[in-house]
Amino acid sequence: MGRIGVAGLLPLVLLACVSSDRPEPRRPAAARPNRRPPPRVPEPPPAETRQCLADLDTDRVEYRVLPRQDLGGGCVVVGAVQLLDIGVPVSGLTSMRCPLARNFSNWVRYGVAPAAKQMLGSELTRIESYGTFNCRPIAGSGRLSEHGRANAVDIAVFVLADGRRVSVLGGWNDGSNEERRFLRTVFKSACRRFTTALGPEYNAAHANHFHLDMGGRPLCR
Ligand SMILES: [Zn+2]
Repeated sequence: MGRIGVAGLLPLVLLACVSSDRPEPRRPAAARPNRRPPPRVPEPPPAETRQCLADLDTDRVEYRVLPRQDLGGGCVVVGAVQLLDIGVPVSGLTSMRCPLARNFSNWVRYGVAPAAKQMLGSELTRIESYGTFNCRPIAGSGRLSEHGRANAVDIAVFVLADGRRVSVLGGWNDGSNEERRFLRTVFKSACRRFTTALGPEYNAAHANHFHLDMGGRPLCR
């Protein structure tokens, strides 16, 4: 009701401004507070999203539910969250569809962090990503990237408590034996948790990051 009320008023307010020919009829400062659109309330999530959010709660993941977004060109984001705390800080995370966020959180906690401890002998303290939501086509193709649906994340660097930075770019081929094994182990573990996992072996565009998504095409390369 509130939204309809304000929307209904808007043309009248505009009309009043336009139709007036007196020198001092406009009072934008006074009118503005009433013209502000009502705050966007996230749509009630469908059952799948509700279950996914409940899973995040069970996992004690901190997150914020994001409203539906449609940027055009197929870039529609529904059932998305922003991860606030999954136990390890991750830079660059914005909008993620809930199942992606859930799988990512589980991968970091149960795949990457234990592997760092066991294989590299140090705690995982931070992950650097190249981001999640980005309304763009797949490089070199006209098809919309899963990033355009907030359904993908790009992972570039793993930082350890002893100060080491194990990057996909520097470590995949040129890291120490342990670092190379660690990167291959966490990549394989990503293949089990995400629909698609692409890394440096896939093509040159992925030389510096793991692309992980929950799209429709199972692929691990
Ligand atoms: Zn990507």
